[in-house]
Amino acid sequence: MADDIVLQTAGLTKEFRGFIAVNGVDLKVRRGTIHALIGPNGAGKTTCFNLLTKFLTPTRGTILYKGEDITKTSPADVARKGLVRSFQISAVFPHLTALENVRIALQRKRGDSFDFWRSEATLRDLDDRALDLLEAVGLGDFATTLAGELSYGRKRSLEIATTLALDPEVMLLDEPMAGMAHEDVGRIAALIARVAENRTILMVEHNLSVVADLSDVITVLARGRVLAEGDYDTVSKDERVIEAYIGV
Ligand code: ADP
Repeated sequence: MADDIVLQTAGLTKEFRGFIAVNGVDLKVRRGTIHALIGPNGAGKTTCFNLLTKFLTPTRGTILYKGEDITKTSPADVARKGLVRSFQISAVFPHLTALENVRIALQRKRGDSFDFWRSEATLRDLDDRALDLLEAVGLGDFATTLAGELSYGRKRSLEIATTLALDPEVMLLDEPMAGMAHEDVGRIAALIARVAENRTILMVEHNLSVVADLSDVITVLARGRVLAEGDYDTVSKDERVIEAYIGV
């Protein structure tokens, strides 16, 4: 595997009781890029994403992360290796403050389960780092707000902060703009662009204008297969892509 390919699949296939949802997908995600997975409803995007994050086991095919075969690795282990999925709302604890949420993520990264035996200096250091992360995602003024009281858009920013706390090399974003109020879309898009400056991002996203603005590479799936790949200009002019979207 070429050094600049950080995530690669070969012949990735998932069958559900005989129905082939993902069918021989070869994907190459280049280091330092924002790579989008798009396609009409039922194309297999979510299934593909769940295979990459190890929430599903492929029927056939392999997944390589930095040259290592992770096809059979657990979700927790791939996360520890730096391949981290974001936007699982459940990952945010609503009854804890924004700062506490990020602190827990930082502790998880360090492998701590409890902090009662930690020195005050260590805790202060963790809080400083948590606050830095909150500031990085534009939540500096919300450190003491309960996560459950944050707006939807800010909750998603908090999820990005908790994901960043795990120091991922590759971030997998599942529909980052889903359910987002119009005014939040630009803010989260800018945040993703900033996060991507020193990371790789693979995202499934329906909002095509966001995909056009953010992505370096787009893979279009249809009926479980790769239909086209390239930058937005290339794939948006591809007859097969236009047909797949119109034909739905
Ligand atoms: P997308 O995210 O592109 O809309 P999905 O990956 O959710 O597509 O689904 C692809 C196809 O696989 C769909 O036809 C869907 O009905 C089917 N599918 C997804 N998950 C399951 C499942 N657990 N059991 C059976 N069929 C499934």
